[in-house]
This record gives sequence, C-alpha cells and structure tokens, in this order.
Amino acid sequence: MKFANIPLNGLHRCALVDAAGQRCWPIADLVPGFDGDIVELIARYEELKNQLVAKGDGLPLDGMRLLAPIERPPRNIFCVGKNYAEHAVEFSKSGFDSSAKEGEHAPEAPVVFTKAFSSIIGPGDAIPPHAQLVRQLDYEAELAVVIGKGGRGIRKADAFGHVFGYTIVNDVTARDLQKLHRQWFLGKSLDGFCPMGPFVVSGDEVDATRLDVKCWVNGELRQHANTAQLIFDIPTLIETISAAIELLPGDVIATGTPAGVGIGFTPPRFLQSGDTVRIEIQGLGVLENRIG
Ligand code: MG
Repeated sequence: MKFANIPLNGLHRCALVDAAGQRCWPIADLVPGFDGDIVELIARYEELKNQLVAKGDGLPLDGMRLLAPIERPPRNIFCVGKNYAEHAVEFSKSGFDSSAKEGEHAPEAPVVFTKAFSSIIGPGDAIPPHAQLVRQLDYEAELAVVIGKGGRGIRKADAFGHVFGYTIVNDVTARDLQKLHRQWFLGKSLDGFCPMGPFVVSGDEVDATRLDVKCWVNGELRQHANTAQLIFDIPTLIETISAAIELLPGDVIATGTPAGVGIGFTPPRFLQSGDTVRIEIQGLGVLENRIG
C-alpha cells in the first residue's frame, strides 16, 4: 500500500493511494472516526488494516500538492552517515569530514546522527538556501525506513518485522556548517533541509535490499547506486539504534547517501538558487525540490 499526506479543506489528511499513484482516498473516509496523521495510522495499523480498502472514485492526485508524508515523526529523524563505500571515500577526501579517523574511509560501526524534524518539507516545496548563513549547500539522496512496530533490542533477524515502509529523503546539508561545527546537527537541520516523500510505501511492496537510488541536479545524473551497496544494511541499522534507544512507530531512519554529492567533485559543485534536485527510488516515486 501507498500512503500520502494531502491538503483537504484546510486540513492535512492521511490518504491511501492506488498502485498507479493516480488516485487517493482520505483514511477518514475509510475508517469512521479516524482523525489522525500517518504516525497514528502506523501505530494502529494492525487494528485498522482491514478497513484500508479503496471505496468509490476517490480523489485525483494529478495537480494536487502533496505534503511530506510524515510531517511530525515522534522525534528527530535518525540518519546514517558514510554508509556507501564510494561516498565514504569521497567525503573523507573532500576535506569536509571532521569526524573521520586519519586514513579511515569506511566507518567501523554505523555513524548515527539526527536531523531536526522541524526541517521536514514536502515534495515540490522550495528548499530555503539560507544564503546569509550557508555558502556550501549540498544534496544527499537517501532511502528512508519508516518504523512500524516499535521495540528495543531488536535483533537483525527480526528487523524487517518492525519496518512499516519506506520513503525518500533528501538529507540537504550545509557543508560549511557541518565542517565548522564538527558535530553535524546544525548543518543538517536548517529549516527546510529535509524534503521527504512523495509517499510512504509499505514494506510488502518493495524489496528494500535492492532498490536503485538516483539523483539528478538540473537534469544531470549525479548519484546512481543500489541499496544492496549499503555498508550497514537495514537490519544492522535497526539492531544498532534499538540497542540504545527504543524505536517508536513512525520513527524515520535515513539510511545514507551514495557517491556523487556536490563535495565529491573537484572543485565541489554546490547548489545554487533555482537549481532543481530530483531523486527517484525504485518503487517509491520521485521527490523533486527546487532551491528557493
Ligand atoms: Mg545523509
């Protein structure tokens, strides 16, 4: 199943989307009395899933401005740094990585950080360039895991049983702030720095262990990899994070970006106002945002 977050009569409404991504049905029309967002839907999924069946014509998605599918996760977005080998190398060599040990390219353990959830914006929203503060704006196309059933101490073998589904995240980064402050939180969390969407696609619809990830800037293909190349796979990430922190329904884990970000080029190719970043992940749709 696919889910979207749509504007309807001045409200933000969670909606079921058909397989073709052409029509949608507000969950409130399918589940009497349901008034929640997708995080609530995920938390109550076992109870509600049998009612999630399209009825009638629904609404056309064409021309509708979709919102970020998860506008308010339970807390910050979990993110993973340097999780594709070629990207780990390009980042280490770029001079922007103040976190690496000398001579180290790939990390020994997942590099987990967070991004403020207030940075989330939707498909088609403009990414604010924060030009007074940021000179080195970069993009990072990523597969994001959405947690379904929460838990602590989740073992790798059980991890996919805790996944609700997947979406796309652009982990927009101010490289200058990332370097200056050494800790990545500020440079990753500026308002508008987390485009997300267009949908949350349930885990039974895609094989997340082998999805093509592509990113274009102004039509030029910059990133192209497959999630099979993740250094730390999804079960490892869930096991690692949940060993320390109880995962909650609706938590989002951005799994890391492939090679081809702006700092991977010599000289670096940073984003400018008016540039368009388009990310496509197999089965999950297209997330496109312009720099404002
Ligand atoms: Mg990232």
